[in-house]
Amino acid sequence: MGTVTAHGLRKSFGEVRALDGVTLEVPDGAFFVVLGPSGAGKTTTLRAIAGLERLDAGSVHLDGRDATGDTPAARDLAMVFQSYALYPRKTVYENIASPLRARSTPADEIGAGVERVAGLLHIERLLQRRPAQLSGGEMQRVALARALVRRPRAFLMDEPLTNLDLKLRVEMRTELTRIHRTLGGTFLYVTNDQVEALSMADQIAVLREGAVQQVGTPTEVYERPANQWVAGFVGSPRISLLACHAEGDRLVGAEGWTLPRPRWTTAEDGRPLVLGLRAEDLSVEQRGDAALPGEIYGLEPLGDRTLVDVKVGAEMLKVKARPTVTGKPGERLSVSVDLDRAHVFDADTGLALS
Ligand code: ATP
Repeated sequence: MGTVTAHGLRKSFGEVRALDGVTLEVPDGAFFVVLGPSGAGKTTTLRAIAGLERLDAGSVHLDGRDATGDTPAARDLAMVFQSYALYPRKTVYENIASPLRARSTPADEIGAGVERVAGLLHIERLLQRRPAQLSGGEMQRVALARALVRRPRAFLMDEPLTNLDLKLRVEMRTELTRIHRTLGGTFLYVTNDQVEALSMADQIAVLREGAVQQVGTPTEVYERPANQWVAGFVGSPRISLLACHAEGDRLVGAEGWTLPRPRWTTAEDGRPLVLGLRAEDLSVEQRGDAALPGEIYGLEPLGDRTLVDVKVGAEMLKVKARPTVTGKPGERLSVSVDLDRAHVFDADTGLALS
């Protein structure tokens, strides 16, 4: 078993309210990601669960048992820090073996354990080196190996890939999900990188200013963001947001455009709304009747696709187009909108309307 439940976590550092009632339920065996921008309270949440941070209020349950007052060691969680925290004088082998030695594991089991995780992380040839003789990416693998060498109740990982270059990061994402599948176990993983979250998680909790905004699968968070802030934070390129209101069966833009009102929009006429449109749900090719008039602001070729920035009055749309698309700044065009995939938010509360 490896369920981790945090309930109503509150923590302030002086004036700074780092956690404002964080509740998370991590199921046994999940790859659960806490996603949020810098300062959202991700590290504090993880440290509170690990028992490294005294809480002002709230509780932590591990496997259903109240562990709020337990020492870090008694919680039996393995934590991987962003900073690696390797022992500089020990060899890689000894670094990885250290959690097993601390638990008086028999020597033959230590050897087998280190070999197993070294194989999993492709670092067999580094075992006799010391941390100073490793690259950043290698150190990261060693730090992960040291966490994975034993079977704790759950693994807590604090932005473990941030110090890697982009290529290595992308590789390690795949590696980590493979390791999770191979080893099993509960992973609670913190990141500010939404691509990392979307690509690795079974479930994502989106955190902002010490409060959980939404919990869901990557598809749920991307396709049905609970509010305008989540819609803006998750997804690249960023979702385009246009001010509007409903009038009968039309949506009327602050910039003068109108679109058929999506069937599911429940807002009363005149209430300030925000229409959210993702780049892939917009097209510069004619598709159906729903379209917005605009002019090209610029093209951003990205190899497999080109993003077209289109000005609609004072607002800007990002439109995904074929790499062969052409056009000059200032050229007028009509942007087709897939309204079935559009998002509508209440402009005052930011909440999604459905
Ligand atoms: P990052 O992605 O930058 O690591 P985070 O989401 O992990 O950010 P936390 O490190 O949990 O955020 O910090 C949450 C808030 O609490 C921030 O405003 C931070 O400045 C503050 N904070 C965290 N630790 C301390 C501390 N020891 N003393 C004072 N303030 C702190």
